[in-house]
Amino acid sequence: MTSLLPVIFFGHGNPMNAITHNDYTAAWRQIGAQITKPKAILSISAHWYVSDTGVTIATAPRTIHDFGGFPTELYQVQYPAPGDPALARRVQQLLAPLDVKLDNAWGLDHGTWSVLRHVYPDADIPVVQLSINENKPASFHFEIGKKLAPLREEGVLIVGSGNLVHNLHAYAWGQHPRAPYDWATRFERSVRQMILAGDHKSLVNYETLGPDAVLSIPTPDHYLPLLYVLAASQTGEKIRFPVEGVDGGSISMLTVQIG
Ligand code: ZN
Repeated sequence: MTSLLPVIFFGHGNPMNAITHNDYTAAWRQIGAQITKPKAILSISAHWYVSDTGVTIATAPRTIHDFGGFPTELYQVQYPAPGDPALARRVQQLLAPLDVKLDNAWGLDHGTWSVLRHVYPDADIPVVQLSINENKPASFHFEIGKKLAPLREEGVLIVGSGNLVHNLHAYAWGQHPRAPYDWATRFERSVRQMILAGDHKSLVNYETLGPDAVLSIPTPDHYLPLLYVLAASQTGEKIRFPVEGVDGGSISMLTVQIG
């Protein structure tokens, strides 16, 4: 009998986490050590937010340093995990008749590698990324997540990488630690309750959740990866929050592990 791999939403936060050892990155390492080793990883990252739906097809995806103003050391990081063209085609097949482009230009962005570098430091598990179509509503992304669920029985770890609360305007750059904003704490708490209650409908309709949601999700890119993960879960599965905390006042580092 094939075991069902968990689905995990990671709050990736500041790109510097890639080269930092802190409580978040230690907890990411723990996750990699504890779960069944997957055959491949499908990552839905906030940082591949574009005008269509695509999957990476490269056999050796490049490490993309998609940020500015960080120390040289961060630009030198390589995450040389192989790609998995067969998985890319499987994703295309699962999402049909949706037009999913096989993409040779993208690689692994920091939403993916800044976390995986800690979860799987050996970079020995193939990784494919799936883009987030910025022109589609939240319900579209939730439906895609549902269609991806069979991958969990095929040895594929589905990972969403974003941040549940992500307001860079309010973020205390270089002033850590800063106490979390009240709206950030409140929104995170209510989202956790909705996740535990299986209230995915409210989470898909996040735009109706009031002013705390508006401040926590000023743009949807970092929130939508959570919907893919929730959609690929099953009712009654164990739900854990193995990483917690709010960084710089306005970035929730919450990890949601289901299964
Ligand atoms: Zn990010």
